[in-house]
Amino acid sequence: MSTPGTSDPEAFVEVADRVWVARHAWYDVNVTVIGGAAGLVVVDTLASEAAASPMRDRVRRLVSPTTPVVAVVNTHEHHDHVLGNAVFTDAWPDLVVHAHEEAADRIPTVVPASVAARVAAGEPRAAEMAASRVVVPTQTLSSVGALDLGDRYVELVHPGRAHTAGDLCLRVPDADLLVAGDVVEAADDPALAVPAYGDDSWPLDWPAALDLVVGVTTPASVVVPGHGPVVDRAFVEAQREGVATVASTIADLAGRGVRPGDALGASTWPWPVDRLTEAVRRGFAQLPPGARRLPMA
Ligand SMILES: [Zn+2]
Repeated sequence: MSTPGTSDPEAFVEVADRVWVARHAWYDVNVTVIGGAAGLVVVDTLASEAAASPMRDRVRRLVSPTTPVVAVVNTHEHHDHVLGNAVFTDAWPDLVVHAHEEAADRIPTVVPASVAARVAAGEPRAAEMAASRVVVPTQTLSSVGALDLGDRYVELVHPGRAHTAGDLCLRVPDADLLVAGDVVEAADDPALAVPAYGDDSWPLDWPAALDLVVGVTTPASVVVPGHGPVVDRAFVEAQREGVATVASTIADLAGRGVRPGDALGASTWPWPVDRLTEAVRRGFAQLPPGARRLPMA
């Protein structure tokens, strides 16, 4: 029951029973809407209010204009997932914005800082980001939570630290669907489907987070990544192998006294090394004491 006859590339497509995904060209980021008797849940809200406004209008047309959005969920604190929040809280003042507690703590500092960096760098759409209000989630969780939509539940799960310390996944059990946020990274070109190891990522913890994701999915599950096309559990399992290899390679190299700066050239890696700079830097820094031998002089 996908949305028929549309040529709008950013239109919502129904990927499971009453779960719609719109893939937005800017950042190739996904917005997911989950429908229930009580109303709609919107997961992630794009990188600006200007971008989120037409998305909100599409949300209004999904079921009926009077069906309310009752919750917004931010899968983590990065600006491309939260800067449209205000568009939804303006339109539905009673809705609640949910996130992991780490994400909610960090949004007030991380989002303005990343917007300021983009303004300073002269990014083309930085002005519309800077013009967007930062709405901080008020309903937070540390491990698990649930949203009651009347005729269905949506489970909220913190899988552990991975892309950020505040990652949040959503599961819709009756639809066998999981919204993974940036814990899973997809792309049309498989070579570009590389986990986003940023300067706030947790490379050594990431494999365990994906173990949890795999554990709450089935071979038939629909998995919505933070970016890129909808995937399945087999894709997640393959990505899990990659992040596990990155983590074990970091530990192995450190144990043999290889310096972080030499690590990318000292082994083979599952993804292009230019995408793994922060993985190595962060991974070495996060190794427990004793897991790292002093470099040979
Ligand atoms: Zn993202």
